[in-house]
Amino acid sequence: MAKLLEGKLIAAQLKDILLKKILASGKPLHLASIQVGENLSSGVYLKSQKKNAELLGVEYVLHKLDQAITQEELIEFIETLNKELRVNGIILQMPLPAHIDYKKISSHIAPGKDVEGMHPLNMGKIIFGKSQVLPCTASAVMELINFTGMELKGKEVVIVGHSEIVGKPLSLLLLDKLATVTVCHIGTSQAGKLEEHVRRAEVLIVAVGKAGFIKGIWIKEGALVVDVGINKVEDKIVGDVEFVEAEKRASWITPVPGGVGPFTVVMLMRNLVNALSLNRYL
Ligand code: NAP
Repeated sequence: MAKLLEGKLIAAQLKDILLKKILASGKPLHLASIQVGENLSSGVYLKSQKKNAELLGVEYVLHKLDQAITQEELIEFIETLNKELRVNGIILQMPLPAHIDYKKISSHIAPGKDVEGMHPLNMGKIIFGKSQVLPCTASAVMELINFTGMELKGKEVVIVGHSEIVGKPLSLLLLDKLATVTVCHIGTSQAGKLEEHVRRAEVLIVAVGKAGFIKGIWIKEGALVVDVGINKVEDKIVGDVEFVEAEKRASWITPVPGGVGPFTVVMLMRNLVNALSLNRYL
């Protein structure tokens, strides 16, 4: 039976370290969160951000903007926050209305205030192993793996899903640890090769967004399984991996909920602290 990799519990120690650093900085930190229109799906993440900010004494201000705001007006708003001295970090809540281009907008957040690690400059630095602000979910996965004590060097790591916030940055972070990384996506599935890749994974990371997409019987004996997926099925939250069967085979597995999600928010707070040492106006 696998041991549970419970992000919620593991994050506690890290929160203490962050709190000490924030207290040592000598001034309260300020996190500006932007929500465009009413989007219910970001509600849980938003609540968790607010709660974690409060625990760390971070001032959390939610700016609710009108659904009809134009792209130019939103950029102008962000640039005002970029210039505000008291603002240490800026988060853009997803999803955004269809007329707003996330990639264009996120590149207007000053890299030194980009606590989600999504600015092209921060993303680009990952290639050189130099980024101090990493995409939160990708760094949460790395920290959870690190907690198990598993040496990644030479391990067969399979990532399912190649999104810009999870799979792509993770593949680079894992390469940096000298893991042998395979990234699967729709092309892998369409070629009928997904199962064979998953079956040989010593470390499996899944971020697809489809409940029970990865069959429990595909999990290699002793594998470390990180399930990033969050899916609502009949009022319950489940991951992308069939948990009951996978748990019998894996050595470690993240539960959903309570695994990667709660750790992701702590990574956001770590980015906020790390951003203190960056030039916030660039
Ligand atoms: P996304 O941008 O929609 O990416 C999904 C990925 O899955 C894409 O790379 C897609 O590949 C791949 N995919 C879709 N169908 C596939 C198939 N049949 N076979 C193989 N690959 C397939 O989603 P995301 O933002 O990365 O999020 C993924 C999941 O993680 C969601 O459930 C989301 O809610 C969750 N999530 C959790 C956290 C957390 O903190 N726990 C954070 C972020 C996201 P193609 O692009 O090739 O179609």
